[in-house]
Amino acid sequence: MKNPRVIQLAAISVVFAILWIATWSIPFVSESFAAFAFVFVLATLWTAFVPGVKRLRRDPYDLGRLQEVHEREELSKLNEEVPDTLEFDSVVCRCCMSVYSNQLPTCPRCGGCG
Ligand SMILES: [Zn+2]
Repeated sequence: MKNPRVIQLAAISVVFAILWIATWSIPFVSESFAAFAFVFVLATLWTAFVPGVKRLRRDPYDLGRLQEVHEREELSKLNEEVPDTLEFDSVVCRCCMSVYSNQLPTCPRCGGCG
């Protein structure tokens, strides 16, 4: 459980349950603690499970979901736009290591490796 609220509510439930058992011999006090424990157990269960159930039962026409689809498409488009190989204006000659324009067919200094 990631929700700290659930842990707090569960702890309060346990405290009331302990008070319920501790005051077992005093009828009215004991019953009051039992009622509080029951209420907090319900609150714990509500806090723990209702958000998950709401997430499962999402409205198919929710605009938030449309936004999610849009964002996913934008992300995949961005991934497509990145080229596999980067293009450079200049290249390095394998033979003499001089840098020249990639517009030239061979190295102007040494004429390439032949
Ligand atoms: Zn060269």
